[in-house]
Amino acid sequence: MQTGKINVQTENIFPIIKKFLYSDHEIFLRELVSNAVDATKKLKAFSSMGEFKGEIGKTTINVVLDKKAKTLTISDKGIGMTADEIVKYITQIAFSGAEEFITKYKDKVDANAMIGHFGLGFYSAFMVAKEVEIISLSFKEGAKAARWTCDGSPEYKLEETKKEGRGTDIVLHIADDSTEFLEDARIETLLKKYCRFLPEEIKFGTKKEWVNDGDKKDKDGNPEQKEIEVDNIISNPTPLWTKKPAELSDEDYKNFYRELYPMNFEEPLFWIHLNVDYPFNLTGVLYFPKLKNNFEAPKDKIQLYSNQVFVTDNVEHVVPDFLMLLRGVIDSPDIPLNVSRSYLQADGNVKKISTHITKKVADKLEELFKKDRADFEQKWNDIKVFVEYGILSDEKFNEKAQKLVLLTNTQKAHFTLEEYEAKIKPTQTDKDKKLIYLYSNNVSEQHSYIQAAQDRGYDVLLFDTPLDPHFIGKLESTLKEVAFVRVDSDTVDKLIKKEDAPVSKLSEEQKKELQPIIEDIISKEKYTVVLESLSEKEAPMLITRPEFMRRMKDMSALGGGMSFYGDMPDMYNLVVNTNHPLISKILEEHSPEKRKAMSKQAADLALLSQGLLKGEELTQFIKRSVALID
Ligand code: ADP
Repeated sequence: MQTGKINVQTENIFPIIKKFLYSDHEIFLRELVSNAVDATKKLKAFSSMGEFKGEIGKTTINVVLDKKAKTLTISDKGIGMTADEIVKYITQIAFSGAEEFITKYKDKVDANAMIGHFGLGFYSAFMVAKEVEIISLSFKEGAKAARWTCDGSPEYKLEETKKEGRGTDIVLHIADDSTEFLEDARIETLLKKYCRFLPEEIKFGTKKEWVNDGDKKDKDGNPEQKEIEVDNIISNPTPLWTKKPAELSDEDYKNFYRELYPMNFEEPLFWIHLNVDYPFNLTGVLYFPKLKNNFEAPKDKIQLYSNQVFVTDNVEHVVPDFLMLLRGVIDSPDIPLNVSRSYLQADGNVKKISTHITKKVADKLEELFKKDRADFEQKWNDIKVFVEYGILSDEKFNEKAQKLVLLTNTQKAHFTLEEYEAKIKPTQTDKDKKLIYLYSNNVSEQHSYIQAAQDRGYDVLLFDTPLDPHFIGKLESTLKEVAFVRVDSDTVDKLIKKEDAPVSKLSEEQKKELQPIIEDIISKEKYTVVLESLSEKEAPMLITRPEFMRRMKDMSALGGGMSFYGDMPDMYNLVVNTNHPLISKILEEHSPEKRKAMSKQAADLALLSQGLLKGEELTQFIKRSVALID
């Protein structure tokens, strides 16, 4: 037996590891299983190079929980380590400076970053174990098995031992404050989270309790222990993204989607199989889910892997925001495994990767659009949010998406930007050569306005999602010489200003006489009375809401309570059609009461059609209307 001292300057590196890396304790399992996978990979590599001539056999990695002994053991059949190698690889680590670093930056770095920075993978075991054993037999011919133990102090013991078969067992004696890691469910969850797609088969099991207590004894006189049953296969060593797209069917992709997100019952719309080997290495599959229009953070997220080891599903700021609406897997050895997120964000490779993915996604959409326009249109409702969000948040994507973004009109027909421009140019160009895009955000509420616009030969687009006000702003700044006008923001004559506005039947004097009569019957805070010479066929009075007022209000609704426009009252125009015969009649009427009653009735009708007539006013209106029938 040999004892030694781990190469650290002070006595207390382990308490420091344990204390300051508290939040990420669970990653110890990822580290140890990854080491086991690496050791197995190395063995296979040695075998293929002819440096190992023995039988490889089954290389399943077993994770076994023994509740009685309070241990968790990770066993591999990889290259193993000789006693000398344990000393070299495990104890002569570059701890120098680590302690200083941890104490200095304890609040700023996470365990991931620390472990990555100092190559402390194996030592993360001490975050949960009070004692760690390594029992290892090297693949090298004539090697003797070695047993290393350490209780978390820099002193360790190293001795010769017996071990059946090549490989390494890492035995963790779980610390009293970490007993959660003695729960089957916890370990299984962790294995499924971090090790699900590791390239080796991983099995997990619990050592069965002592059986026949006192009855059957083994040869040393101890109660006999039943065979360990380790039959719960955790991993899928060849997940779909590692396979060739040509060998995969749609069903395979859908199945993998279900495997990734078992709680999701909807099928993905389509997917992109990523496969890049230059200038960086990247594989993966991205799925387009059906998106809802609300912007709640999706709970099924894109998962980042590095060589099939789960890194994170917290990809915020790592991939562009709009890509976070997608699901699936991105795997790249160029994504550093052991780093903090702030590091990931600044990492040059990660930036390149995210630019590349953006391009791929745009290409895929373009391909779908070109290949089958009808199918693309069918999916449009579900990908619209994604495309609009991409256009708004990513200039590169915006450029590419100009060709495939669709506008939908109130009759549910879809147009590309180019097609729509061609369609409305003859009818919807105003006197200043500006192209006016009319839109509605609520077909049933704005029905009469849409009808009036259509009767005039205009087309009305539908923009009814919370994102649309922003999207409209973006289109206005991208397209030249255009304006978007909501269909109820003015009377149909004024929506698109043409040269030949109808002349007013009323003289200037008559208008001056009319204005106060109308102003008298309506709340001045809410309504501005506007006299307009519209067609005789239009209603005598109409309610409109100026585009800019409404946009401010919409923006404030989206911006939440903090907005500058937050307390803006609702303001409307009460448009009086001076060419309507009823308006002339009001002026001809001499009794002030009758004038008032007629005006009031006409104004209330306009309010009613917009759902603005309520309470007392509505009751009065109904009473008056009944009296009128009489
Ligand atoms: P890293 O894996 O980043 O090198 P670790 O602290 O996790 O750092 O491991 C240190 C070294 O110990 C490894 O590089 C490897 O040589 C050796 N090692 C760890 N676990 C095993 C294992 N299960 N089998 C063989 N060698 C191992």
